[in-house]
Amino acid sequence: MIIVLKPECSKEQLISFKENLTNNYGVKVNTWEGVHSTVLGLIGDTTAIDIDYISAQDIVEDVRRVQEPYKKANRKFHPEDTVIELSNGTKIGDGSLVLMAGPCSVESSSQVCEIARSVKESGAHILRGGAFKPRTSPYAFQGLKAEGLDLLKQARRETGLPIVTEIMRTSHIDMFENVDIIQVGARNMQNFELLKELGKTNKPILLKRGLASTIEELLMSAEYIMAEGNDKVILCERGIRTYETYTRNTLDLSAVPILKSLSHLPVIVDPSHATGKSWLVESMSMAAVAAGADGLIIEVHNNPKCALCDGAQSLTPEQFDRVAKRVNGLKSYLTNN
Ligand code: PEP
Ligand code: MN
Repeated sequence: MIIVLKPECSKEQLISFKENLTNNYGVKVNTWEGVHSTVLGLIGDTTAIDIDYISAQDIVEDVRRVQEPYKKANRKFHPEDTVIELSNGTKIGDGSLVLMAGPCSVESSSQVCEIARSVKESGAHILRGGAFKPRTSPYAFQGLKAEGLDLLKQARRETGLPIVTEIMRTSHIDMFENVDIIQVGARNMQNFELLKELGKTNKPILLKRGLASTIEELLMSAEYIMAEGNDKVILCERGIRTYETYTRNTLDLSAVPILKSLSHLPVIVDPSHATGKSWLVESMSMAAVAAGADGLIIEVHNNPKCALCDGAQSLTPEQFDRVAKRVNGLKSYLTNN
């Protein structure tokens, strides 16, 4: 962190400010006294220093971070890739391509089990399905809730596929005890109380990027979970709001290599919510794999026209089968060349 002091800063103010920084934050302070102003360079862990607190001091002209404000999610402090292993041995982040697939919402036992069987046949490793649904309208289908969780577990028993499903509130954490990966949806990416509580569990967390969140904000949300002790975080790029209305969101694929260079956490892509259109899912899945994604999460429905949620972006099992073949083909080509 670099701090530029105002020219009128007195010697006494400089000494007391520097003491405050060293004593309260344990950083080393280097001082350059120029003709017009004094510049301080803070060396050490500055993650706990509130930049707004520094700017608010009368003697401070300007302050800038030269180091990222996240530490646990930062590749600088953890150069090796984080690999998350599920209880059935599935690994995420080990250089392979993980496919998560399933309906937007769990609707019935036959629906989720039928989809689970078909996506497994096509090579999916993990079953997705929403039991608690964050819908824009309070009148829209809100999910089967606890019953939806039971149906996902039934599909897991029948197929052996681990399950990933979304949590919306802290008080539900106990209900998610038996889930393999807990998803934090885009709308809750900055629900810091939820993130902190999930940080106290030892469950893998699939953290989706907020609708209008920057890459740094996504990493700061991962940091919230990790700061509490849970380092099993999977980042998910699922499109962001832009002025473009043709697609549901704009898939920011550059986020994939950027996140992978800034962080050691696995990064997956959701081409379904990113585009909102089933016909775009295949090309965006291919592009995501080419960009270096560790996995994809794709919505699949056995009857998209009648889906209770997100039918327009859901693939049929046959379409998913084709996407799975193509992305796996591309992945092997990239691995071998
Ligand atoms: C979902 O995965 O069903 C979902 C609601 O996704 P997002 O939070 O990315 O909108
Ligand atoms: Mn959905």
